[in-house]
Amino acid sequence: MSQKIRGVKGTRDVLPIDTYVKDEDPWVRVGHYHLVEQSARDLFPLYGYREARTPVLERTELFVRGIGEVTDIVGKEMYTFDDRGESVTLRPENTASLVRAYVEHNVNQQEPETKWWYAGPMFRRERQQRGRYRQFTQIGIEAFGSPGPRIDAEQVELLDRWLRVLGVPFEMHLNTLGDASCRPKYREALQAYLRSRAPELCEDCQKRIETNPIRVLDCKNPKCQEVAAAAPKMEQFLCEPCKVHFAGVQEMLQRLGVPFVVDPKLVRGLDYYTRTTYEAIATSGLGAQSTLAGGGRYDGLVKDLGGPDVPGIGFAAGVERLALLLAQEGKERATRPVVFIAPLGDAEAARADQLAQQLRAAGLAAEVSFRKSNPGNQLKRADTLGARFALVLGDQELKSDRAKLKELKTGAQHEVTLSGFADEVRKLTGGPR
Ligand code: ATP
Ligand code: MG
Repeated sequence: MSQKIRGVKGTRDVLPIDTYVKDEDPWVRVGHYHLVEQSARDLFPLYGYREARTPVLERTELFVRGIGEVTDIVGKEMYTFDDRGESVTLRPENTASLVRAYVEHNVNQQEPETKWWYAGPMFRRERQQRGRYRQFTQIGIEAFGSPGPRIDAEQVELLDRWLRVLGVPFEMHLNTLGDASCRPKYREALQAYLRSRAPELCEDCQKRIETNPIRVLDCKNPKCQEVAAAAPKMEQFLCEPCKVHFAGVQEMLQRLGVPFVVDPKLVRGLDYYTRTTYEAIATSGLGAQSTLAGGGRYDGLVKDLGGPDVPGIGFAAGVERLALLLAQEGKERATRPVVFIAPLGDAEAARADQLAQQLRAAGLAAEVSFRKSNPGNQLKRADTLGARFALVLGDQELKSDRAKLKELKTGAQHEVTLSGFADEVRKLTGGPR
């Protein structure tokens, strides 16, 4: 045998079956992903979001300019390589890419206000942990052209509804980061305070004081959190328009009946955020990697990336973390066969294939047995597949056109004809068409 080739560290396979179960990191199956993705596909268009797909590969410059040089992502997490003289990067997030596409295709000339959603893999070279991988999946939305605050509240309400549809436990956190006219003053005050307590901070945060002081507020180190708790708050520095904006978002959320907590420590790691920021945080089941989705307003980004002065706001959710929660709760979306057909001989096999074809054409999932074995084993196999009914097809059934369809859970037997099989199954299930 040749040597096995393993997957790259920090990446994972998502299979239809459980290949292992580890308590600290339950196996996530494709069916859990489907539940997350399908609910987004169903829900987001109800709010006017349409899907956009951009490449996984972008010019490195896009993220350096779009995300900011002093962020963790650009500083140390990107997969960047030289493509024959051009530096390219596997996207670590999708907002910068969507903005690039928005600018490149002059979308604002056709649709000054537009709402997009996306789903796909992102890449960051982080330390692998439960809920933190090097290739992971994000589903997110971006709305361009609306200054808010109504769209801000609408997005938070969308995120709230989506997570409720999925049934995951979470709390919505809300904050404002101010804008270009008030944040610099806050940044200075924060910097002065942090310098005075620098020795208490972790090594990373000591560097952040000068490069990205706001990020200290968000450090997970307990000592840094202690220092952050007594730091000056953005709220005291907000300019009048930012104050009015933030009050507006809160008022609208209350009107829409969306629960939230104002969390002054909520800051986002990326440079481009302004004003409203929000995060949905899992209240149980995920340990330290508990942020399910993070979002916020980025009014300067489109312009920074060479476009017109168009405001934007969006969020990105981590599909793996959502899927982990669903897996823990035993929820998944799976298509199981409605009928499992077990033919006993060659003539029956040909008929079984035909019956399965008719069932599928009627929108009913069907499986035929490709193995020769006794009816008892066939029923066992039907059970393992999670089929609702099993049909054992022998010589007798073929001749008489009559058969007994066994309902596996209850053991009930239904008399059916082979000539009208698909119709009769459909009536029994109340299934499609
Ligand atoms: P965190 O504080 O957890 O590192 P972040 O601020 O880096 O999050 P964002 O860039 O806002 O995360 O990404 C939005 C969401 O994508 C996160 O809330 C999380 O659910 C998910 N996510 C981010 N990085 C990873 C990763 N390496 N593996 C799995 N999911 C991730
Ligand atoms: Mg991160």
